Amino acid sequence: MSIAKNLLEIKSQLPNQVTLVAVSKTKPVADLMEAYNAGQRIFGENKIQEMTEKWEQMPKDIQWHMIGHVQTNKVKFMAEYVSLIHGVDSLKLLQEINKQALKNHRVIDCLLQIYIADEETKFGLDESELVELLSSAEFKALQNIRIVGLMGMATFTDNQSQIKAEFKHLKEIFDNTNKLETLNVKLETLSMGMSGDYKLAIECGSTMVRIGSSIFGNRNYN
Ligand SMILES: *Cc1c(COP(=O)(O)O)cnc(C)c1O
Repeated sequence: MSIAKNLLEIKSQLPNQVTLVAVSKTKPVADLMEAYNAGQRIFGENKIQEMTEKWEQMPKDIQWHMIGHVQTNKVKFMAEYVSLIHGVDSLKLLQEINKQALKNHRVIDCLLQIYIADEETKFGLDESELVELLSSAEFKALQNIRIVGLMGMATFTDNQSQIKAEFKHLKEIFDNTNKLETLNVKLETLSMGMSGDYKLAIECGSTMVRIGSSIFGNRNYN
């Protein structure tokens, strides 16, 4: 199957309100261009340097999403062009994004990453940390970032009912946060679901799926 075929096949299955992020990490520009030529304009990368190299080489109407864990000292390399940062999980990182956004005379959209998995290795906030962050005076002072939603990753398991429970938990946190009138945030984007679990994620309320291997094929990390 070709990349274009895979892409169009997946797109035809997505409900209208669900945005597709084509996760192109480790893949060459030629592969991304195949998706681009089939109409894809949103690409997700997990390394800032790799994303920047691709941004430099590719058409400028692409929206670049940073989906990986972000190191504070690297924010400056993407601040000029990044369209959405998915994995934000601390005030310190938000403050740096704000600073770099200000330098570039722009507002950068971010998603806060919520920890929903039953694994030690995944990053993210829990619900009380989320509310604490959004309520803090330090957060409210940040004028050059906008929190537009939440992101989460389910446990890497075949257990569908566990994955479903984790996605439902994230959707519940999303809804609870929007109901808190004191917070004054409007979350619109719920980024959850990858190649293996995006259908389940959509059932549970996802509005943005991050799909890599089902479009571009398996990744080779050598
Ligand atoms: C790699 C990655 C994806 C895509 O994974 P696939 O299983 O290839 O679809 C989605 N989200 C994040 C955060 C990733 O790092």
